Amino acid sequence: MKKRAVITIDGPAGAGKTSIAKIVSRKLGYNYIDTGAMYRAISWKAFREKIDLKAKEKLIKMVRNTKIELKNRAGMVRVYLDGKDITNKIRGKRLAEGASILATVPEVREQLMKIQRRMGSSGGIVVEGRDIGTVVFPRADYKFYLDASIKERALRKYRELKVKGEEGQLAELEKAIRSRDKRDRTRGVAPLKIAPDAVVIDSTDMSKKEVVEFILKRIQ
Ligand code: C5P
Repeated sequence: MKKRAVITIDGPAGAGKTSIAKIVSRKLGYNYIDTGAMYRAISWKAFREKIDLKAKEKLIKMVRNTKIELKNRAGMVRVYLDGKDITNKIRGKRLAEGASILATVPEVREQLMKIQRRMGSSGGIVVEGRDIGTVVFPRADYKFYLDASIKERALRKYRELKVKGEEGQLAELEKAIRSRDKRDRTRGVAPLKIAPDAVVIDSTDMSKKEVVEFILKRIQ
């Protein structure tokens, strides 16, 4: 395996990217970059400051004046916005939906991409998101595209939200995921798609352990 490699994991909502990327990075002693958390952090700030997500100019100005940091602490990733730890505030459907809306604005993406590239400049990272293998790190050493059936992804999100105390209807969640995926796949800039050199993993019938083992085997 290449030393201090850049490993990318892209895929739709609920495919398990976050948990898999966390485990793989821990096993390799790498840093983990959750790019979705950056979009969610901006979404959180926009809601808090009552910025209309359609007011692009305001949004762009806000993003340019916002400091976002991801810090790996004791095997956990913490998200800091303007110096404040907001890790526990950025989960949930509403912020995910907001993130996907503001992620269609090219200037917002540009700003976050700069941070992502800076964080990955010396390698030794597992980065997950939607456009990582295609746009952010097109020359990454190892690329994966993690997928699962829509039913399975909705079920995973349902369980995840339940653990965090957010109740939801499974059918409603499936609908929300479908609409978010559609927006992510059809936007004009950096849409979610499979990089030509990515290894596709359909994790529908796989356990987390199996997916992690598959990835580690491919790269070692
Ligand atoms: O991965 P997560 O579900 O936290 O991402 C939230 C939203 O952020 C996605 O639905 C997508 O619209 C956006 N996103 C993106 N590019 C990334 C990561 C996330 O557009 N690299």
